[in-house]
Amino acid sequence: MGWKCPQCGVVQQSDAVNVCEACGFVRSAGTLVLVAEQTAGRLQVGVDTAIGKELLETFAGTDHVYAADPQFLLARDPVLGGWSIAPAPGTKNPTFLNGAALADAPAPLPPGAVITIGPDKLRLRVENEP
Ligand SMILES: [Zn+2]
Repeated sequence: MGWKCPQCGVVQQSDAVNVCEACGFVRSAGTLVLVAEQTAGRLQVGVDTAIGKELLETFAGTDHVYAADPQFLLARDPVLGGWSIAPAPGTKNPTFLNGAALADAPAPLPPGAVITIGPDKLRLRVENEP
């Protein structure tokens, strides 16, 4: 698909890149959508949000029982333009991204990434909407 930089007009080839290669303009990341593989339920996230057991119970099915409240934090990344994920402190079960446990620092959360609790519980697929 790609996108056109509103500041300098250069067309970017990849939707996964949110920073203009020509002038450094950072575009807004749009809405983040979490899709639960167990239920096909969807959660749209437009602002920085803490995700926990109570919210997961509304769309993600029975695996919400493995989550703490909160379990992880979603935030816009002001430097790279996309979304990032960070684990909440003190959770019983670790949050994984694409099969690897999250470190304490926020990690980029690109479209197509998969969030799980532990290696395989509560599979959430990441999508972006403009
Ligand atoms: Zn530009």
